[in-house]
Amino acid sequence: MLAMRGTWRGAGLPRQARVEAIEEGWLWGSPMPDDSYSVIACVESQADYFALLRRSALFCDLRGATTVHTCDATTYAADIVCDDRLLRVGDASHSLDPLSSSGVHSAMQAALHASIVINTILRRPGRAAAALRFYADAQRAAVAEHAAWTRRFYAESRWRDAPFWRKRGNPATMQPGNPATCDSNANVMLSPGASINDVPCVIGDFVELRPGVAGPALPRPFVWIGGVPAAPLLRPIERAPMRRNALLASWSKMTPGREAAVFDALWHAGVLVAAG
Ligand SMILES: Cc1cc2nc3c(=O)[nH]c(=O)nc-3n(C[C@H](O)[C@H](O)[C@H](O)COP(=O)(O)OP(=O)(O)OC[C@H]3O[C@@H](n4cnc5c(N)ncnc54)[C@H](O)[C@@H]3O)c2cc1C
Repeated sequence: MLAMRGTWRGAGLPRQARVEAIEEGWLWGSPMPDDSYSVIACVESQADYFALLRRSALFCDLRGATTVHTCDATTYAADIVCDDRLLRVGDASHSLDPLSSSGVHSAMQAALHASIVINTILRRPGRAAAALRFYADAQRAAVAEHAAWTRRFYAESRWRDAPFWRKRGNPATMQPGNPATCDSNANVMLSPGASINDVPCVIGDFVELRPGVAGPALPRPFVWIGGVPAAPLLRPIERAPMRRNALLASWSKMTPGREAAVFDALWHAGVLVAAG
């Protein structure tokens, strides 16, 4: 993917951010602090920037000389994000599709995690392997989650059959796993493949091992849900299915008043599924 950015100056420029899908890609405009207006065209390959904007609905009226800079915006992910002497952070680890608008957030999240991983390696060397596993899992999950989100967004476009959009969209990621809601009397069980094991997680300034939930449908293992440890919630259902209401009743002391919300989170994550 190429990103072509033009900076527009002069009177009468839009004062708001604008986003438009076009057949060849998508356009994204935003006002800048110096009163200029920046418009990025994300396209497959080199194109006539000004012709793209002229044919658009939201940017066709722009007037004023501009320079256009082009950069590569292709997504990538490093094969090795960390080892004994290396932690890749931010774009050095992976680059997300600009449609996600999340590269800075992801880079800051990686930096926070990296600082905790380094602290653990230096001060609790016995936990070094768990810390590196935590970091690698978190980075891989960020890439997988964003890839799924952007594939879904691209597949929803009115231009989804045009080559640019078809290449990036995947309607399969739009198919819901579980139904939207679960009947209160339904029999539910732990998803096949989901398991409760010790997984690395952040406790304060360190990476520690705690019982967590892992499974093929999950981008990464998790230890807490709704602010409480997840494993004790799932222990009652680990061996045999239970009625949803009975499961919620068993949580009354652990998640007072939030049983239904916690259940919905586990249901939507595909950790709990209908039994039989
Ligand atoms: C077209 C496009 C649009 C985007 N839009 C968004 C958006 O809307 N929202 C969003 O959150 N993200 C967006 N991103 C992604 C975002 O810009 C990056 O993910 C984010 O900046 C990564 O942060 P970073 O610190 O890893 O890298 P960078 O921000 O690239 O910082 C790395 C810094 O290191 C410096 N550097 C490089 N080599 C050396 C060296 N040898 N010595 C010293 N310094 C060096 C560089 O000059 C640079 O300042 C977009 C990306 C693209 C390509």
